[in-house]
Amino acid sequence: MSIKEYFASLFSGFVSLLKGMAVTGKELVTPKVTEQYPENRDTLHIPDRFRATLQFIYDADGNHKCTACRTCERNCPNGTITITTRTVDMPNGKKKQKLDKYIYDLGSCTFCDLCVTSCPFHAIEFSNDFEQAVFRRESLVKQLNYLPEKDEPVPAPQPAAAAPGGAPSAETPDNQEKQ
Ligand code: SF4
Ligand code: SF4
Repeated sequence: MSIKEYFASLFSGFVSLLKGMAVTGKELVTPKVTEQYPENRDTLHIPDRFRATLQFIYDADGNHKCTACRTCERNCPNGTITITTRTVDMPNGKKKQKLDKYIYDLGSCTFCDLCVTSCPFHAIEFSNDFEQAVFRRESLVKQLNYLPEKDEPVPAPQPAAAAPGGAPSAETPDNQEKQ
């Protein structure tokens, strides 16, 4: 390469660089047209049926309807759901298996919805909250029953049985005794 060709190539490269920088500079000050996210978070519409992540359905009092029956766990085709239970003492003296942890791995979920449709108690649903990006794989593993579990309700006392022979019991109101 001659000296003349060398400087011609250098000049050509410099012009090319300026053209590229001009395009970059122009786009830097041009208002965005197609790239609206995340500035439009407040007005962004995500369809209700979009499946972003599995979640428990809690009522206003913080109760969920999961009975730990494991139907969803069995129906999940790829082991995304892991349920552990614990034994609790009931007020009536019996023991019962209750949900301890409902673990859902968003990273392995295929969003097939089999778990939701097979749940006999309508205890789970898909949220359309699509912002689920995290930095670590382990952060995609979630415990869905995150609220503290409530104690079992104490059964209401049974009304006293009627005395033999039709005599009024001790709890019979006065106006009934006079009849
Ligand atoms: S979410 Fe539904 S199917 Fe799954 S364990 Fe709970 S009650 Fe059973
Ligand atoms: S949507 Fe499908 S893959 Fe995801 S947890 Fe439910 S059954 Fe498993």
